[in-house]
Amino acid sequence: MTTPELYAQHVLPTYGRFPLVPVRGARARLWDENGKSYLDFCMGIAVCSIGHCHPRLVEAIRHQAGELMHVSNLYQNPLQAELAEEINTQHVKLPGKIFFSNSGAEANDGLIKAARRFGLKRPATDGSQRYEVVTFLQSFHGRTLGAMSATGQKKIQEGFDPLLPGFRYLPFNDVAALENAVRPETAAILLEPVQGEGGVNMATPEFLRAVADLCKKHDLLLFFDEVQAGFGRCGDAMAWRMIAPEIQPDGISWAKGMGGGVPIGAFWLNDRSVNEDGTALSSLLGQGSHGSTYGGNPLVCAASLAVLKEIREKELGVNAIFQEVRIRETIRLWNLPIVTEIRGQGLLLGIALDPARIPTPEGKTPALVIVNLLMERGLLVPPAGPDTFRLLPPLNVTDAEVDEALVTIHSVLAEF
Ligand SMILES: *Cc1c(COP(=O)(O)O)cnc(C)c1O
Repeated sequence: MTTPELYAQHVLPTYGRFPLVPVRGARARLWDENGKSYLDFCMGIAVCSIGHCHPRLVEAIRHQAGELMHVSNLYQNPLQAELAEEINTQHVKLPGKIFFSNSGAEANDGLIKAARRFGLKRPATDGSQRYEVVTFLQSFHGRTLGAMSATGQKKIQEGFDPLLPGFRYLPFNDVAALENAVRPETAAILLEPVQGEGGVNMATPEFLRAVADLCKKHDLLLFFDEVQAGFGRCGDAMAWRMIAPEIQPDGISWAKGMGGGVPIGAFWLNDRSVNEDGTALSSLLGQGSHGSTYGGNPLVCAASLAVLKEIREKELGVNAIFQEVRIRETIRLWNLPIVTEIRGQGLLLGIALDPARIPTPEGKTPALVIVNLLMERGLLVPPAGPDTFRLLPPLNVTDAEVDEALVTIHSVLAEF
Protein backbone atom coordinates (compact mmCIF):
# COMPACT_ATOMS: atom_id res chain seq x y z
CA MET A 1 0.00 0.00 0.00
CA THR A 2 1.13 3.56 -0.62
CA THR A 3 1.74 5.94 2.26
CA PRO A 4 -1.48 7.92 1.56
CA GLU A 5 -3.43 4.63 1.51
CA LEU A 6 -1.96 3.56 4.85
CA TYR A 7 -2.87 6.98 6.28
CA ALA A 8 -6.44 6.66 5.07
CA GLN A 9 -6.80 3.31 6.79
CA HIS A 10 -4.91 3.87 10.03
CA VAL A 11 -4.37 7.55 10.94
CA LEU A 12 -7.03 9.94 12.21
CA PRO A 13 -7.88 12.39 9.44
CA THR A 14 -7.20 15.56 11.49
CA TYR A 15 -4.86 17.01 8.87
CA GLY A 16 -5.61 17.85 5.26
CA ARG A 17 -2.25 16.48 4.11
CA PHE A 18 -0.54 17.27 0.82
CA PRO A 19 0.28 14.10 -1.14
CA LEU A 20 4.03 14.80 -0.70
CA VAL A 21 6.02 12.03 1.06
CA PRO A 22 9.37 13.45 2.22
CA VAL A 23 11.96 10.86 3.22
CA ARG A 24 15.28 12.72 3.48
CA GLY A 25 16.50 16.23 4.25
CA ALA A 26 19.71 18.26 4.29
CA ARG A 27 20.09 21.98 5.01
CA ALA A 28 17.17 23.76 3.33
CA ARG A 29 16.34 20.85 1.03
CA LEU A 30 13.96 17.90 1.20
CA TRP A 31 13.66 14.83 -1.01
CA ASP A 32 10.48 12.86 -1.55
CA GLU A 33 10.18 9.10 -2.00
CA ASN A 34 10.63 9.46 -5.76
CA GLY A 35 13.87 11.37 -5.38
CA LYS A 36 12.37 14.71 -6.36
CA SER A 37 13.98 17.56 -4.41
CA TYR A 38 12.30 20.58 -2.87
CA LEU A 39 13.57 23.78 -1.38
CA ASP A 40 11.98 23.75 2.07
CA PHE A 41 10.79 27.14 3.33
CA CYS A 42 8.26 25.45 5.63
CA MET A 43 10.87 23.69 7.77
CA GLY A 44 8.37 21.66 9.74
CA ILE A 45 6.60 24.95 10.46
CA ALA A 46 9.55 26.91 11.83
CA VAL A 47 10.90 23.89 13.71
CA CYS A 48 14.11 22.96 11.85
CA SER A 49 15.72 26.29 12.65
CA ILE A 50 19.27 25.28 11.63
CA GLY A 51 18.14 23.24 8.61
CA HIS A 52 17.46 19.54 8.13
CA CYS A 53 19.96 17.16 9.69
CA HIS A 54 22.57 19.77 10.62
CA PRO A 55 25.78 17.84 11.45
CA ARG A 56 26.12 19.49 14.88
CA LEU A 57 22.56 18.50 15.80
CA VAL A 58 22.87 15.00 14.35
CA GLU A 59 26.10 14.43 16.27
CA ALA A 60 24.62 15.72 19.54
CA ILE A 61 21.65 13.33 19.21
CA ARG A 62 23.85 10.36 18.14
CA HIS A 63 26.20 10.90 21.04
CA GLN A 64 23.48 11.35 23.66
CA ALA A 65 21.49 8.38 22.32
CA GLY A 66 24.49 6.19 23.13
CA GLU A 67 24.97 7.68 26.61
CA LEU A 68 21.53 8.12 28.15
CA MET A 69 18.26 8.96 26.36
CA HIS A 70 15.81 9.29 29.16
CA VAL A 71 15.84 9.61 32.89
CA SER A 72 12.98 10.57 35.14
CA ASN A 73 12.52 14.09 36.38
CA LEU A 74 12.73 12.46 39.80
CA TYR A 75 16.52 12.76 39.29
CA GLN A 76 18.98 15.48 38.35
CA ASN A 77 19.69 15.79 34.64
CA PRO A 78 22.89 17.72 33.84
CA LEU A 79 21.79 18.52 30.27
CA GLN A 80 18.47 19.97 31.41
CA ALA A 81 20.29 22.14 33.95
CA GLU A 82 22.79 23.28 31.33
CA LEU A 83 20.05 24.05 28.81
CA ALA A 84 18.13 26.11 31.38
CA GLU A 85 21.31 28.06 32.13
CA GLU A 86 21.98 28.62 28.40
CA ILE A 87 18.44 29.93 27.86
CA ASN A 88 18.43 32.16 30.93
CA THR A 89 21.88 33.70 30.62
CA GLN A 90 22.34 33.83 26.84
CA HIS A 91 18.85 34.24 25.40
CA VAL A 92 16.31 35.61 27.91
CA LYS A 93 18.90 37.54 29.93
CA LEU A 94 16.47 38.15 32.77
CA PRO A 95 16.42 36.30 36.08
CA GLY A 96 13.88 33.51 35.94
CA LYS A 97 13.29 29.76 35.97
CA ILE A 98 12.25 27.23 33.35
CA PHE A 99 10.02 24.17 33.07
CA PHE A 100 10.55 21.86 30.11
CA SER A 101 7.59 20.43 28.20
CA ASN A 102 7.23 18.47 24.96
CA SER A 103 5.33 20.98 22.88
CA GLY A 104 4.15 24.56 22.59
CA ALA A 105 0.61 23.84 23.71
CA GLU A 106 1.89 22.21 26.89
CA ALA A 107 4.16 25.18 27.54
CA ASN A 108 1.15 27.51 27.30
CA ASP A 109 -0.86 25.24 29.58
CA GLY A 110 1.95 25.73 32.09
CA LEU A 111 1.65 29.51 31.83
CA ILE A 112 -2.12 29.26 32.33
CA LYS A 113 -1.56 27.22 35.48
CA ALA A 114 0.97 29.81 36.69
CA ALA A 115 -1.63 32.56 36.15
CA ARG A 116 -4.09 30.71 38.36
CA ARG A 117 -1.54 30.20 41.14
CA PHE A 118 -0.71 33.89 40.88
CA GLY A 119 -4.40 34.74 41.13
CA LEU A 120 -4.59 32.70 44.32
CA LYS A 121 -1.60 34.50 45.84
CA ARG A 122 -2.87 37.88 44.64
CA PRO A 123 -6.67 37.61 44.83
CA ALA A 124 -9.29 40.14 43.74
CA THR A 125 -10.27 42.87 46.21
CA ASP A 126 -13.17 40.72 47.48
CA GLY A 127 -10.69 37.96 48.31
CA SER A 128 -11.72 35.61 45.50
CA GLN A 129 -9.09 33.91 43.34
CA ARG A 130 -8.31 35.63 40.06
CA TYR A 131 -8.04 33.21 37.14
CA GLU A 132 -8.87 34.90 33.84
CA VAL A 133 -6.30 35.08 31.05
CA VAL A 134 -6.96 37.69 28.37
CA THR A 135 -5.75 36.73 24.88
CA PHE A 136 -6.33 38.12 21.38
CA LEU A 137 -8.27 37.42 18.22
CA GLN A 138 -6.35 35.55 15.48
CA SER A 139 -3.98 34.19 18.11
CA PHE A 140 -2.81 30.61 18.15
CA HIS A 141 -1.65 28.95 21.35
CA GLY A 142 -2.06 25.23 20.62
CA ARG A 143 -4.52 22.34 20.59
CA THR A 144 -4.71 21.00 24.14
CA LEU A 145 -7.94 21.89 25.91
CA GLY A 146 -6.18 24.71 27.78
CA ALA A 147 -4.20 26.15 24.87
CA MET A 148 -7.17 25.79 22.51
CA SER A 149 -9.38 27.65 24.96
CA ALA A 150 -6.75 30.41 25.04
CA THR A 151 -6.74 30.61 21.24
CA GLY A 152 -8.82 33.48 19.84
CA GLN A 153 -10.09 31.64 16.74
CA LYS A 154 -13.56 30.12 16.44
CA LYS A 155 -12.49 27.60 13.81
CA ILE A 156 -9.99 26.01 16.24
CA GLN A 157 -12.60 25.71 19.01
CA GLU A 158 -15.60 24.65 16.94
CA GLY A 159 -17.48 21.66 18.34
CA PHE A 160 -15.42 21.26 21.49
CA ASP A 161 -17.67 23.00 24.01
CA PRO A 162 -17.55 23.44 26.89
CA LEU A 163 -14.17 25.10 26.60
CA LEU A 164 -12.01 25.67 29.62
CA PRO A 165 -13.51 28.74 31.31
CA GLY A 166 -11.48 31.84 32.14
CA PHE A 167 -10.49 33.30 28.77
CA ARG A 168 -11.53 36.43 26.94
CA TYR A 169 -10.37 37.58 23.52
CA LEU A 170 -9.68 41.16 22.50
CA PRO A 171 -8.82 42.61 19.09
CA PHE A 172 -5.06 42.51 18.43
CA ASN A 173 -3.15 45.78 18.11
CA ASP A 174 -6.17 47.74 19.32
CA VAL A 175 -4.95 50.01 22.12
CA ALA A 176 -8.43 51.48 22.70
CA ALA A 177 -9.95 48.02 23.30
CA LEU A 178 -7.54 47.52 26.20
CA GLU A 179 -9.60 50.10 28.15
CA ASN A 180 -12.18 47.48 29.02
CA ALA A 181 -9.75 44.58 29.20
CA VAL A 182 -9.54 44.11 32.93
CA ARG A 183 -12.20 42.59 35.17
CA PRO A 184 -11.90 41.67 38.87
CA GLU A 185 -11.08 38.05 37.92
CA THR A 186 -8.39 38.93 35.36
CA ALA A 187 -4.94 37.59 36.29
CA ALA A 188 -2.83 37.65 33.12
CA ILE A 189 -2.53 38.73 29.50
CA LEU A 190 -1.05 36.27 27.00
CA LEU A 191 0.01 37.23 23.49
CA GLU A 192 2.28 36.38 20.58
CA PRO A 193 4.57 39.35 19.88
CA VAL A 194 4.34 38.19 16.26
CA GLN A 195 1.21 36.17 15.53
CA GLY A 196 2.17 33.24 13.31
CA GLU A 197 -0.73 30.93 12.42
CA GLY A 198 -3.20 33.82 12.50
CA GLY A 199 -1.68 35.36 9.36
CA VAL A 200 1.69 36.82 10.53
CA ASN A 201 0.67 39.95 12.41
CA MET A 202 3.26 41.90 14.36
CA ALA A 203 2.30 43.65 17.55
CA THR A 204 3.00 47.34 17.22
CA PRO A 205 5.38 48.89 19.78
CA GLU A 206 2.53 51.13 21.04
CA PHE A 207 0.29 48.12 21.55
CA LEU A 208 2.92 46.02 23.31
CA ARG A 209 3.77 48.94 25.59
CA ALA A 210 0.10 49.60 26.33
CA VAL A 211 -0.37 45.94 27.28
CA ALA A 212 2.71 46.05 29.51
CA ASP A 213 1.50 49.27 31.20
CA LEU A 214 -1.92 47.76 31.77
CA CYS A 215 -0.36 44.71 33.42
CA LYS A 216 1.67 46.95 35.75
CA LYS A 217 -1.34 49.09 36.62
CA HIS A 218 -3.67 46.18 37.43
CA ASP A 219 -1.15 43.70 38.87
CA LEU A 220 -1.53 41.27 35.94
CA LEU A 221 1.05 38.86 34.60
CA LEU A 222 2.40 39.58 31.12
CA PHE A 223 3.00 36.40 29.12
CA PHE A 224 4.62 36.16 25.68
CA ASP A 225 3.99 33.11 23.50
CA GLU A 226 7.25 32.88 21.55
CA VAL A 227 6.64 29.31 20.40
CA GLN A 228 7.01 30.23 16.73
CA ALA A 229 8.80 33.60 16.87
CA GLY A 230 11.48 32.92 19.48
CA PHE A 231 15.15 31.93 19.41
CA GLY A 232 16.38 34.02 16.50
CA ARG A 233 13.60 33.60 13.97
CA CYS A 234 12.67 37.29 14.22
CA GLY A 235 16.28 38.45 14.62
CA ASP A 236 16.79 38.82 18.35
CA ALA A 237 16.73 35.66 20.48
CA MET A 238 13.45 36.98 21.88
CA ALA A 239 10.90 38.33 19.40
CA TRP A 240 9.43 40.91 21.78
CA ARG A 241 12.86 42.63 21.96
CA MET A 242 12.58 43.46 18.25
CA ILE A 243 9.41 45.42 19.08
CA ALA A 244 9.81 46.93 22.56
CA PRO A 245 13.13 45.84 24.10
CA GLU A 246 12.56 47.52 27.46
CA ILE A 247 9.60 45.30 28.35
CA GLN A 248 10.26 42.60 30.96
CA PRO A 249 7.67 39.83 30.70
CA ASP A 250 6.55 37.67 33.61
CA GLY A 251 6.34 34.50 31.58
CA ILE A 252 7.41 33.15 28.16
CA SER A 253 6.59 29.97 26.26
CA TRP A 254 8.68 28.35 23.53
CA ALA A 255 8.81 25.19 21.42
CA LYS A 256 9.17 24.77 17.63
CA GLY A 257 12.62 26.16 16.70
CA MET A 258 14.30 25.50 20.06
CA GLY A 259 14.76 21.80 19.35
CA GLY A 260 15.56 21.92 15.64
CA GLY A 261 13.29 18.89 15.11
CA VAL A 262 13.12 17.04 18.43
CA PRO A 263 9.92 17.53 20.45
CA ILE A 264 10.76 20.02 23.17
CA GLY A 265 9.02 23.06 24.60
CA ALA A 266 9.47 25.17 27.69
CA PHE A 267 8.01 27.94 29.75
CA TRP A 268 9.83 30.50 31.80
CA LEU A 269 8.72 32.46 34.86
CA ASN A 270 10.34 35.63 36.12
CA ASP A 271 12.11 35.60 39.50
CA ARG A 272 10.56 38.96 40.44
CA SER A 273 8.64 39.06 43.69
CA VAL A 274 4.85 39.21 43.54
CA ASN A 275 4.24 40.00 47.17
CA GLU A 276 5.45 42.18 50.03
CA ASP A 277 6.85 39.01 51.63
CA GLY A 278 9.23 38.64 48.69
CA THR A 279 7.59 35.54 47.18
CA ALA A 280 9.05 35.03 43.69
CA LEU A 281 6.67 34.48 40.77
CA SER A 282 8.91 31.59 39.74
CA SER A 283 8.26 29.90 43.10
CA LEU A 284 4.47 29.74 42.72
CA LEU A 285 4.62 26.44 40.83
CA GLY A 286 6.30 24.51 43.61
CA GLN A 287 6.88 20.85 44.36
CA GLY A 288 4.15 18.61 43.01
CA SER A 289 2.29 21.41 41.22
CA HIS A 290 3.30 20.48 37.66
CA GLY A 291 5.12 17.73 35.84
CA SER A 292 5.93 15.85 32.65
CA THR A 293 7.34 12.36 32.26
CA TYR A 294 9.31 13.14 29.10
CA GLY A 295 9.77 16.88 29.64
CA GLY A 296 13.38 17.95 29.11
CA ASN A 297 14.91 14.47 28.96
CA PRO A 298 18.64 14.08 28.20
CA LEU A 299 18.12 13.33 24.50
CA VAL A 300 16.02 16.40 23.66
CA CYS A 301 18.07 18.70 25.91
CA ALA A 302 21.31 17.62 24.18
CA ALA A 303 19.64 18.41 20.85
CA SER A 304 18.27 21.76 22.00
CA LEU A 305 21.65 22.79 23.45
CA ALA A 306 23.30 22.09 20.09
CA VAL A 307 20.63 24.12 18.27
CA LEU A 308 20.64 27.13 20.61
CA LYS A 309 24.45 27.28 20.70
CA GLU A 310 24.60 27.10 16.91
CA ILE A 311 22.07 29.95 16.64
CA ARG A 312 23.96 32.05 19.19
CA GLU A 313 27.56 31.32 18.13
CA LYS A 314 26.89 31.76 14.40
CA GLU A 315 24.63 34.78 15.03
CA LEU A 316 21.92 33.28 12.87
CA GLY A 317 19.47 35.98 14.01
CA VAL A 318 21.64 38.47 12.11
CA ASN A 319 21.28 36.34 8.98
CA ALA A 320 17.52 36.22 9.56
CA ILE A 321 17.35 40.03 9.38
CA PHE A 322 19.78 40.18 6.45
CA GLN A 323 17.70 37.72 4.42
CA GLU A 324 14.47 39.48 5.41
CA VAL A 325 15.81 42.70 3.88
CA ARG A 326 16.80 40.89 0.67
CA ILE A 327 13.39 39.20 0.41
CA ARG A 328 11.44 42.40 1.04
CA GLU A 329 13.54 44.39 -1.39
CA THR A 330 13.21 41.82 -4.19
CA ILE A 331 9.45 41.42 -3.82
CA ARG A 332 8.98 45.18 -3.67
CA LEU A 333 10.85 45.58 -6.96
CA TRP A 334 8.61 43.01 -8.67
CA ASN A 335 5.78 45.42 -8.09
CA LEU A 336 3.19 42.67 -8.61
CA PRO A 337 -0.41 43.71 -7.85
CA ILE A 338 -1.20 40.26 -6.39
CA VAL A 339 1.11 40.95 -3.42
CA THR A 340 -0.73 43.28 -1.10
CA GLU A 341 1.63 43.28 1.85
CA ILE A 342 4.68 41.63 3.41
CA ARG A 343 4.23 41.20 7.15
CA GLY A 344 6.42 39.93 9.93
CA GLN A 345 10.01 40.16 11.01
CA GLY A 346 13.22 38.28 10.26
CA LEU A 347 12.41 34.88 8.79
CA LEU A 348 8.83 34.77 10.05
CA LEU A 349 7.37 36.49 7.01
CA GLY A 350 3.84 36.48 5.62
CA ILE A 351 3.24 37.31 1.96
CA ALA A 352 -0.32 38.62 1.79
CA LEU A 353 -2.16 38.09 -1.50
CA ASP A 354 -5.09 39.82 -3.16
CA PRO A 355 -7.79 37.10 -3.08
CA ALA A 356 -9.74 38.80 -5.88
CA ARG A 357 -6.96 37.84 -8.31
CA ILE A 358 -6.88 34.14 -7.43
CA PRO A 359 -9.66 31.86 -8.76
CA THR A 360 -10.33 29.25 -6.07
CA PRO A 361 -11.82 25.80 -6.62
CA GLU A 362 -14.36 24.56 -4.06
CA GLY A 363 -12.89 24.16 -0.59
CA LYS A 364 -9.54 25.83 -1.34
CA THR A 365 -8.36 29.18 -0.01
CA PRO A 366 -6.37 31.55 -2.25
CA ALA A 367 -3.28 30.85 -0.13
CA LEU A 368 -3.67 27.10 -0.70
CA VAL A 369 -3.91 27.57 -4.46
CA ILE A 370 -0.57 29.39 -4.42
CA VAL A 371 1.04 26.96 -1.95
CA ASN A 372 0.13 24.05 -4.26
CA LEU A 373 1.56 25.77 -7.33
CA LEU A 374 4.78 26.54 -5.46
CA MET A 375 5.03 22.91 -4.38
CA GLU A 376 4.63 21.71 -7.97
CA ARG A 377 7.60 23.91 -8.84
CA GLY A 378 9.71 22.62 -5.98
CA LEU A 379 9.20 25.11 -3.16
CA LEU A 380 7.52 24.20 0.12
CA VAL A 381 5.81 26.96 2.14
CA PRO A 382 2.96 26.87 4.66
CA PRO A 383 -0.16 29.05 4.47
CA ALA A 384 -1.11 31.43 7.29
CA GLY A 385 -4.80 32.22 7.20
CA PRO A 386 -6.80 32.26 3.94
CA ASP A 387 -4.87 34.88 1.93
CA THR A 388 -1.29 34.69 3.18
CA PHE A 389 1.57 32.25 2.78
CA ARG A 390 4.58 32.16 5.06
CA LEU A 391 8.29 32.02 4.41
CA LEU A 392 9.97 30.06 7.21
CA PRO A 393 13.39 29.03 5.87
CA PRO A 394 16.10 27.83 8.24
CA LEU A 395 17.89 30.67 10.03
CA ASN A 396 21.14 29.77 8.24
CA VAL A 397 19.56 29.94 4.78
CA THR A 398 22.00 31.16 2.12
CA ASP A 399 21.71 33.94 -0.44
CA ALA A 400 21.55 31.32 -3.21
CA GLU A 401 18.71 29.42 -1.52
CA VAL A 402 16.72 32.60 -0.95
CA ASP A 403 17.30 33.69 -4.55
CA GLU A 404 16.15 30.30 -5.84
CA ALA A 405 12.97 30.49 -3.75
CA LEU A 406 12.27 34.03 -4.96
CA VAL A 407 12.62 33.00 -8.61
CA THR A 408 10.04 30.24 -8.03
CA ILE A 409 7.68 32.57 -6.16
CA HIS A 410 7.94 35.15 -8.93
CA SER A 411 7.23 32.59 -11.63
CA VAL A 412 4.01 31.58 -9.87
CA LEU A 413 2.77 35.00 -8.77
CA ALA A 414 3.50 36.66 -12.12
CA GLU A 415 0.81 34.46 -13.69
CA PHE A 416 -1.96 36.16 -11.70
C1 LIG B 1 2.69 26.09 16.98
C2 LIG B 1 2.33 27.05 18.04
C3 LIG B 1 1.82 26.61 19.28
C4 LIG B 1 1.53 25.17 19.57
O1 LIG B 1 2.69 24.39 19.60
P1 LIG B 1 2.56 22.80 19.52
O2 LIG B 1 3.99 22.34 19.67
O3 LIG B 1 1.95 22.44 18.22
O4 LIG B 1 1.72 22.38 20.66
C5 LIG B 1 1.57 27.55 20.25
N1 LIG B 1 1.78 28.87 20.03
C6 LIG B 1 2.27 29.31 18.86
C7 LIG B 1 2.51 30.77 18.68
C8 LIG B 1 2.53 28.43 17.81
O5 LIG B 1 2.96 28.90 16.64
